[in-house]
Amino acid sequence: MKFNAVLDNLKIYEAGKPIELVVREYGIDSKDVIKLASNENPRGCSPKVIEAVQKDASKMNLYPDDSMYELKEGLAKRFNVGSKNIIIGAGSDQVISFAVHAKSNPNTAVLMARTTFAMYEIYTRQTGAKILKTPSHTHNLPEMLEMYQQNKDISIIFLCLPNNPLGECLDTKDIEAFLEKINQDTLVIIDGAYQEYGSFKDKNKAINPKELIKKYPNTIYMGTFSKAYGLGGMRCGYGIAQADIIEALHKLRAPFNITNLSLKAAIVALQDEAFVQKCMAENFQEMKRYEVFAKELGFDFIDSYTNFITLEFDNSKKSSDIAEKLLKKGIIVRNLGAYDMNAIRVTIGTPEQNSRFFELFRTVYM
Ligand SMILES: *Cc1c(COP(=O)(O)O)cnc(C)c1O
Repeated sequence: MKFNAVLDNLKIYEAGKPIELVVREYGIDSKDVIKLASNENPRGCSPKVIEAVQKDASKMNLYPDDSMYELKEGLAKRFNVGSKNIIIGAGSDQVISFAVHAKSNPNTAVLMARTTFAMYEIYTRQTGAKILKTPSHTHNLPEMLEMYQQNKDISIIFLCLPNNPLGECLDTKDIEAFLEKINQDTLVIIDGAYQEYGSFKDKNKAINPKELIKKYPNTIYMGTFSKAYGLGGMRCGYGIAQADIIEALHKLRAPFNITNLSLKAAIVALQDEAFVQKCMAENFQEMKRYEVFAKELGFDFIDSYTNFITLEFDNSKKSSDIAEKLLKKGIIVRNLGAYDMNAIRVTIGTPEQNSRFFELFRTVYM
C-alpha cells in the first residue's frame, strides 16, 4: 500500500528498552535488571498518588471530565495563570505534536539544536516541513539566531531547557535576549520537561511560564508529570501559552485524550511538592558520584541540569560496545551513537542502582 510521501523517510522513535525485553533476550532475572535509559524517577511517585489512584480504580467505566477542570485548576494555581492558558495532553509529547501540526507545513522550516529530543524531528517530518539544525550539538543561541535570520520561512523554534539527551541548560536571561529578536509569528516551543531539575540546581535557569508568555506571547511552555513527578506510565503533560495558541491546539485534540486515573494522579502529584523536592536533592547528590567516577576513570561528562548524565568517551572506546556490554549484565542505558556522538546517557538511579552501575561499568570499561 502507498502511504503519504512524508512517511517514506520517517524513522520510528526508538524508546528505551523495557526491562521485560532484557529478561527475555538475555535470561537475566528481572530483579537484576536496572533501567537507566528513560529518565524515569527511580523513587517512583508520591505514595499519596498511588493511594488516590487505587481509590478511584472503580471509576474506569466512566469517561474522564473532558474539560479537565480540576487538573487545569491545579496547574493554574501552581503557575498563577488562567485555565484558558492551559492544555493537557497524553504526555507533553502529545502537546508538542499538537503545536507542530498547528504551525508547520511543507512551506515552512523548523529550527532546533543538533542534538535534542528526537520527537521534535519526527513530528516535524510528519508535516512535511524542512528541518534546520545548528552545527553545535548543544544549544547555541548565536548559531540559532543566525540561521533564523537567514531563513525567512521558519515557523517553529525548539528550545529544550534543560536539554535531553545532553543535559545542558542555558541561562534564562540569555533565552530572553534571544526571544527579543524573534518575530511574533514564529512559535517558540520551550520544552521544560526537566525544569524542576534545572531550576533546583541553578535559579538562573528557572523559567516562569507566566512571565514568559506575558513578555513573549509567541511562546508555549511544555511541562510533564513523567520525570520529576514520577508518572511516566500515566502519560500526562501540559502546555501553557496565550489563549489564542491554546485554542488553536485544542482543535487538534481528540476528546478524552487522557485517562481519568492519569488526571487523578497528576492532580494529587501537584499537591505533594515535598516529594518532588526530596527527589531533586537526592538526584543531584547521586549525580556527584557519577562525576567523581568519570574523573577517576578518566572520561568526560557534560555538566547536567537533569536526572541523567551524558558520559563521553575517547576513540579508544566505543559507546555502542559499552552500552551493549552493560545490557548483557542487566543495565539498560542509552547509546548516543545515533546522534553522532561517542557517548552514553545514563539516568541517575537510586543510590543502590548507581553503586551497581559503577561496579559493572568498571568491568566492561577496563
Ligand atoms: C520526557 C520528555 C518529554 C515528555 O515526555 P512525556 O512522557 O510525553 O510527557 C518531553 N520532552 C523531553 C525533552 C523529554 O525528555
